[in-house]
Amino acid sequence: MSDHLDDQALHILQSVFGYASFRGQQADIVSQVAHGGDALVLMPTGGGKSLCYQIPALVRDGVGVVVSPLIALMQDQVDALAEVGVRAAFLNSTQTFDETLQTERALRTGNLDLVYVAPERLMTPRCLEMLEASNIALFAIDEAHCVSQWGHDFRPEYIRLSVLHERFPDVPRVALTATADPQTRAEIVHRLQLEEARQFVSSFDRPNIRYQIVEKANGRKQVLDFIQEEHPGEAGIVYCLSRKKVEETAAFLNEQGLNALPYHAGMDHAVRAANQAKFLREDGIVMVATIAFGMGIDKPDVRFVCHLDLPKSIEGYYQETGRAGRDGMPADAWMVYGLQDVVQQRRLIEESEAEANFKRIQSAKLDAMLGLCETSSCRRVRLLNYFGQEATPCGNCDTCLNPPQAFDATVQVQKLLSTIYRVDQRFGAGHVIDVLRGTESEKIKQWRHDKLSVFGVGSDTADAEWRAILRQAIALGLVAVDHDAYGSLKLTEDARPVLRGERRIELRHYQKPQRQKRQASRS
Ligand code: ADP
Ligand code: ZN
Repeated sequence: MSDHLDDQALHILQSVFGYASFRGQQADIVSQVAHGGDALVLMPTGGGKSLCYQIPALVRDGVGVVVSPLIALMQDQVDALAEVGVRAAFLNSTQTFDETLQTERALRTGNLDLVYVAPERLMTPRCLEMLEASNIALFAIDEAHCVSQWGHDFRPEYIRLSVLHERFPDVPRVALTATADPQTRAEIVHRLQLEEARQFVSSFDRPNIRYQIVEKANGRKQVLDFIQEEHPGEAGIVYCLSRKKVEETAAFLNEQGLNALPYHAGMDHAVRAANQAKFLREDGIVMVATIAFGMGIDKPDVRFVCHLDLPKSIEGYYQETGRAGRDGMPADAWMVYGLQDVVQQRRLIEESEAEANFKRIQSAKLDAMLGLCETSSCRRVRLLNYFGQEATPCGNCDTCLNPPQAFDATVQVQKLLSTIYRVDQRFGAGHVIDVLRGTESEKIKQWRHDKLSVFGVGSDTADAEWRAILRQAIALGLVAVDHDAYGSLKLTEDARPVLRGERRIELRHYQKPQRQKRQASRS
């Protein structure tokens, strides 16, 4: 069905933006907002969210107000719009007083199609009053997940955006985000009062990205091998948890002949900006970074994203890996993951000063991430299911290409749990595994643990396999790590049914890190 406004929207798409047709759900979204309705748009990065508010703003009378936390990108966005003849401006803290006055004058006199505003600026009485005196076409709330308190990009100013609905009840609002787990979605609806909004959920699948999560042995060396063998001379990002590790890894990769640059929030601002510019402009740079790097980075030919440390949540993982392969060509999302990652992330949550409820949610998010790491079935299915999307096995992830063998690990887990119990829950992973394997270390003799009935009951299983079993037992919540007691292992309530033989445990076999070569013929 087509009407006057829809015709006008298509005309603008073609004559102003130079595109032949709308993509995916763009036409429906544009129509909804152009007709004055509210919308919640969930679309992966690169899906084309901008046109979903830019075109309705041009179709409707008045100025479209775009709320965005990405101040650094506003100038570029405004310049790009000016190039195609759209009258756009921005209001944020980087401007001079004169520039601000100029934008405000253009607003008041109705000489703007779009204005980008930082949320903290929008919320000032001066700005709100000015908007009330202007003719507003719509409000677009970009990066709407910033309203989620449990998310990784929480911005307190976003919570206050609910006043838009109260002060401008007749102005349509469109909220947009690339983060789409059901919880965040519900929070956006609730906090921004978008109960009446139509929801547009695009597919979150990125079929050209191959997901691989391999067991960590020597992370740095594994990353080096992976890049040298699979992506020599190509651009990519290596994410690390800490600033120190960023520095060390970048130095190591450089020593080994790669063109690597560090990026984290603790670096001198000018150096950081220079590294980012280099990554965007030059070919084949490996950016070693904390998660501070990437929001709003639009480089189409990033061929790989590596994680040297476990992300805190699937949202984070998806967003970071999503920076690979925006051009639609094959790209890799590759991660190394080991026992220490589980221990470290659990510890970060436990030791944080946050309130109990927050910790509980962080913990649930980590569990979902661990589930993705430990799954024996398709990674993509797992990822998409997390975002509420159905999917079938993809044939292009490590578990599809090289299905891990699952095995009944009940007896081994029982041995592990008994050993932890027998050493009075006072020893860490290394010692417990030594007892299981019957290793006669000094420490074992000193504690007379070679006299325990469990000493050597697991000698048929290799050290690496025991670490994999322990990691999965911690991921499953059967074993806890006590950080106040030097990482000693403790049994949880959930360990009881296993020890009593009432619960069967199926685990993945330890897989020696191996690479899946990408066939040259694959498109
Ligand atoms: P997002 O904000 O969702 O990450 P953008 O709005 O930046 O995505 O769009 C991503 C890219 O896709 C841009 O280069 C944009 O010009 C292009 N694009 C968007 N919609 C269309 C379309 N209908 N036809 C062709 N290209 C499009
Ligand atoms: Zn798969």
